[in-house]
Amino acid sequence: MKIVITGGAGFLGSHLCDLLLENDHHVTCIDNLITGSVNNIAHLINNSNFKFIKHNVSEYIYLSEDVDAVLHFASPASPEDYLNYPIQTLKVGSLGTLNSLGLAKKKNARFLLASTSEVYGDPKISPQKEDYWGHVNPVGPRGVYDEAKRFAEAMTMAYYRYHNVNTKIVRIFNTYGTRMRINDGRAVPNFLSQAIRNDDITVYGTGNQTRSFCYVSDLIAGIYKLLNSDINEPVNIGNPVEFTIIDLAKEIIRLTGSKSKIVYKDLPTDDPQVRKPDITKAENCLNWEPKVNISDGLKKTLEYFRKNIKN
Ligand code: UDP
Repeated sequence: MKIVITGGAGFLGSHLCDLLLENDHHVTCIDNLITGSVNNIAHLINNSNFKFIKHNVSEYIYLSEDVDAVLHFASPASPEDYLNYPIQTLKVGSLGTLNSLGLAKKKNARFLLASTSEVYGDPKISPQKEDYWGHVNPVGPRGVYDEAKRFAEAMTMAYYRYHNVNTKIVRIFNTYGTRMRINDGRAVPNFLSQAIRNDDITVYGTGNQTRSFCYVSDLIAGIYKLLNSDINEPVNIGNPVEFTIIDLAKEIIRLTGSKSKIVYKDLPTDDPQVRKPDITKAENCLNWEPKVNISDGLKKTLEYFRKNIKN
């Protein structure tokens, strides 16, 4: 297939580029590099099946070539990033999704939206199943991401129902791995870089809030299965093993053998108290489940962080 990936120079987008090229697809990566980086795709630049276009997909996307699939992954995705780029986050979730869907419609291509567990907000139900409508504060600081992605899902379903575009929606739960930005502000990169430097580990709130962490290769494998499936409704992809944030901090101190101490900081506004995917649908319909456990995943990520913190 000829596949377009918006946000293809980002953490997840670049891993998707790798998997698609390994499976003999042609990949056009579009990214404006506000949170993505050419370092993530530098190894692909001489691959004749790969093309990079620097462009902001919130502006009209013009491509003369044939396209079989459009994967919309462009967006700031860490809470710190979307607080720093609130308008860009809203625009790429709304206008960027509209432009990407428009491209898919024009090219008669299938479409896959990178959505998020943030559509469930601070959930009142756990684990979260796809039929849960969520508990989101539209006017809080996280609303710029949550509502943009909820709008993106609504827009995607409208193109499916009204324009018959073959659309798919993946709801991505917390994911970690190589190519995460060292300073992107999320728990795994913060704790790993703090542990490597023997700095204080910053736990927000009591640390009793929970998240469920998926290693990037598992997530990408699930997304590829979804792309090749006939499912048009949203599917959760994530690892259902749930951790408190304090336990994540302790595990990272143990793995790194760090001298870091845990310190407590204010909990960000509207920080979800629990998050855990119900992945029954992915298991039954995609025959997918995560394989990498947290200590193996963290070890691989740690290796990447050690290399990049030294440089
Ligand atoms: N967190 C923390 N210390 C940090 C960064 C994050 O305690 O240095 C907490 C954050 O408040 C949240 C959880 O870790 O409860 C996961 O945060 P992250 O930014 O990784 O992603 P989120 O799941 O909130 O989108």
